[in-house]
Amino acid sequence: MEQQSNEAYEVVVVGAGISGLATAVALTHLGISNIIVIEKSDGLRSTGTAITLFPNAWCVLDALGVAHKLTDLYDPYDKWHIINIEDGSKRTFTTSGTSPRRKKEVRVVHRKALLEALASELPHGIIRFSSKLISIKSEAIKDLERLNYLLLEDGTTIKTKVVIGCDGVHSRVAQWLGLPKPVSSGRSATRALAVFPEGHGFPNESRTYLDNKGIKVGFVPLNKTELYWFANHKTSTSDSQDPDQILQDVIENMQARNFPDDVLTVVKHSDSSSVTRAPLLLRTPWDILFCRAQRWNVTVAGDALHPMTPDMAQGGCTSLEDAVVLARNVFSGTEISDSGFARYLRERQRRTACLTGSSYLAGWTPQDDRPILNWFMGWFVKKIFNRFVFPKIRRYAICYDCGDLPTIMEKKSA
Ligand SMILES: Cc1cc2nc3c(=O)[nH]c(=O)nc-3n(C[C@H](O)[C@H](O)[C@H](O)COP(=O)(O)OP(=O)(O)OC[C@H]3O[C@@H](n4cnc5c(N)ncnc54)[C@H](O)[C@@H]3O)c2cc1C
Repeated sequence: MEQQSNEAYEVVVVGAGISGLATAVALTHLGISNIIVIEKSDGLRSTGTAITLFPNAWCVLDALGVAHKLTDLYDPYDKWHIINIEDGSKRTFTTSGTSPRRKKEVRVVHRKALLEALASELPHGIIRFSSKLISIKSEAIKDLERLNYLLLEDGTTIKTKVVIGCDGVHSRVAQWLGLPKPVSSGRSATRALAVFPEGHGFPNESRTYLDNKGIKVGFVPLNKTELYWFANHKTSTSDSQDPDQILQDVIENMQARNFPDDVLTVVKHSDSSSVTRAPLLLRTPWDILFCRAQRWNVTVAGDALHPMTPDMAQGGCTSLEDAVVLARNVFSGTEISDSGFARYLRERQRRTACLTGSSYLAGWTPQDDRPILNWFMGWFVKKIFNRFVFPKIRRYAICYDCGDLPTIMEKKSA
């Protein structure tokens, strides 16, 4: 029996984060207008302050027509240093020669600015805030056609042909699809904005310090007065969520381990209202590769499909890629086809499984009470992965060019 529903759309995107907004922009570029983005918060959520966008992300933002809104505001940087404070070793990376087009280089941008740039491409009223998805029901209407009913927390039921779950690491849509749960990496990340009203004077480069026990602290300028910093560390049951306590923990930890003065100065200039701490979760590469992330016309994108640790700063970049690949494969013909979803997932599952595994290894830290595993993994990561694999994977990550979206005219004649 057909369900009662108050509203009907061709496509519902669940979540107005990076992935959901980029997906909605890509679909509107293809002329799909009967679409809504439902978001549980009452506005755009920009938890985490800032995000690094590599050339692969800029290719997407170009395809979506929003790159210029950000490149005017943020300078590119071309160098990032990783310094081990215990043995003094330093690795320096640059984007030079890595990308055929070196699209817009690497820039760190305010998350809010990225979300607003994407949202400004959407028709007014397309994002429906304070609309939390509670459950999904799917019903056959004809032999091969199905309709999905989305129940929202406020009691509304929305009827739709297609559901794209961009609802993050704890995705309801992924749960409904039966995807395995993300697992803990054993680490957490603290992030904040450091503000120097008189100017910070740091060069436009990224700098990350690490020790051999799993603490990694890095910073990068956003502009002349603001820096974004992060600290990755083992998760502890006593981790507080109070911003002042979090800052005190980070500073005490860094002082006890003799982290250099420049990074301590940055952390001490934090705007405490921007401080957040969260456990780092990931979906294992094999779960990403082998999961069935599609049921009829329901699928997932972004962190809902491939949550990864931030050690290669690729979670958001690959979420942006998903949007263009999904739109091109599923929506650029005249019919929404099953094979389109399959093509989209095949392409994305391979790439993101590889990047998720590599990110985990890039940030691997010794586990308590596992001396033999720690010895082997320490040797493997330092001698094999960091030296021979990581540079190749990095190129694979950032040199990816999603290409352009077909124009509406091309779509009509398809
Ligand atoms: C410490 C840290 C640093 C990072 N640094 C980088 C970086 O430098 N570069 C990079 O590329 N990536 C980075 N990432 C990864 C990046 O933040 C994520 O991959 C990206 O935010 C994923 O976007 P998303 O839209 O898929 O999910 P989210 O950003 O989580 O958005 C999901 C949205 O869905 C909404 N939602 C959730 N459930 C529901 C529901 N039931 N109903 C309706 N709405 C719902 C949420 O409110 C949210 O707005 C980092 C991650 C961490 C943790």
